[in-house]
Amino acid sequence: MNIKPEEITSIIKREIQRYEKKIKTVDSGTIIQIGDGISRVYGLDECMEGELLEFPNNIYGMALNLEQDNVGCVLLGPEKNIKEGDVVKRTGKIVEVPVGDALIGRVVNSLGVPVDGKGLIKNDGMRPIEIPAPSIIERSSVNEPLQTGIKAIDSMIPIGKGQRELIIGDRQTGKTALALDTILNQKGKDVVCIYVAIGQKQSTVAHIVNTLTEMGALDYTVVVESTASDSAPLQYLAPYAGCSIGEYFMNKGKDVLIIYDDLSKHAVAYRTMSLLLRRPPGREAYPGDVFYIHSRLLERAAKLSKELGGGSLTALPIIETLAGDVTSYIPTNVISITDGQIFLETELFYAGQRPAVNAGISVSRVGGNAQIKAMKQVAGTLRLELAQYRELAAFAQFGSDLDKDAQRRLEKGKRLVEVLKQDQYKPMPVEEQIIILYAAVNDFMSDIKIVDIRRFEAAMLEYMNTHHRDISKEISSKKILSDELKEKLEAAILEFKKVFLKELVD
Ligand code: ATP
Ligand code: MG
Repeated sequence: MNIKPEEITSIIKREIQRYEKKIKTVDSGTIIQIGDGISRVYGLDECMEGELLEFPNNIYGMALNLEQDNVGCVLLGPEKNIKEGDVVKRTGKIVEVPVGDALIGRVVNSLGVPVDGKGLIKNDGMRPIEIPAPSIIERSSVNEPLQTGIKAIDSMIPIGKGQRELIIGDRQTGKTALALDTILNQKGKDVVCIYVAIGQKQSTVAHIVNTLTEMGALDYTVVVESTASDSAPLQYLAPYAGCSIGEYFMNKGKDVLIIYDDLSKHAVAYRTMSLLLRRPPGREAYPGDVFYIHSRLLERAAKLSKELGGGSLTALPIIETLAGDVTSYIPTNVISITDGQIFLETELFYAGQRPAVNAGISVSRVGGNAQIKAMKQVAGTLRLELAQYRELAAFAQFGSDLDKDAQRRLEKGKRLVEVLKQDQYKPMPVEEQIIILYAAVNDFMSDIKIVDIRRFEAAMLEYMNTHHRDISKEISSKKILSDELKEKLEAAILEFKKVFLKELVD
């Protein structure tokens, strides 16, 4: 080869021009203050909001306050061995959780670390805990029912896949019970369930996990727990972690049900963090953006379009109220974000009406489209007659004379209320709900004493299941009550009543 010297010099010149100092810099800072799970770090100039920071001893933190001369962050682990002057490194990532099929049946903490003693989880990758919600184009309308198995809800406050329905009530009114029954009812329905416990007692969570295991529901459920003894940042992260784990399944075209139990405690955890970070307190001492932490979480519930696989994420957030006050800050916020509310009332609960759903003020704004036709047929009149009953009942309290028609409606209303009672852990298939509500709405129970109604219901369903299986099969396949089917159903109910009344007399 014949290389001229000019060529060599030109190459060398070019190389010199291109030469750049390539020093890999690790952005790091030093701790200037630490305590109460909060740390201020000096020197993290490029730090992002929500970025994961590496502290000594394998402890991580999350950057929250990007201030002019320091970064305020929360620690996601014990601060015992961390002191002022220690080095903090940026990771360039925001907080992530492991996702994957292997999480099903497991109990994990807010960072996706298993806490059930069943060993490591083989995940299919990581997913940031905060991701923008699907856009409108990526969504389809809510059009499939998500059956809770609870008569009072599936009939009057129907929930659709992809919807956000708030469960709200005072303490000990059966909020968790309602959510758990909905999980139990998803058995065999190919729905992945996620139960996120926020700031609850360890024993309560253990009890819930036990119940799910015993009922065979843990086989399709992930539990994300952050207990009252966990630090505020971990309690704060739990629902986002649960949501990301759920989105993984939704993006694979699956239906997911997620329960946030409860967002009142979540708001309190966020308030604690914010006050420690010295963010300005606002109404009820919550920081100004407390609305936004819940809206960006609940916006992620969605029914995806066909092109994206048609998966869904249905969210049932829970809010605890104080003395039924729904006008305080956090309840009003979450009410305005969700697509409907199920109000549970202490008075009803102690009067024995369980689930203690106040059907008068509870609503579901989008689930109606998702309800199956047959249920719509029976539920339409149910709502109306219950409303009339409540009005009359208020009158009747004053001992005023009621005419025949009013008395009849009062008696019927009492029976409807009785029929809507349902034991815990006993979700009911929608066909059975339709049969029983059909009988109640169409006056087949007017000659049954109120004390016998629940017995009547149980006996009737058993009778139908042994002698008229075809009816419930036809309801579940056709999803509509044709005149012919109605006749068949009525004949079967009359047939059963003969047997039942005879047994009562004997
Ligand atoms: P907390 O505010 O403490 O979280 P909660 O509102 O979640 O309470 P639960 O714990 O679900 O309420 O229920 C309170 C009690 O009521 C429990 O002992 C539960 O077993 C009982 N309970 C709930 N629903 C029913 C029901 N349908 N029938 C009978 N008992 C029920
Ligand atoms: Mg509860």
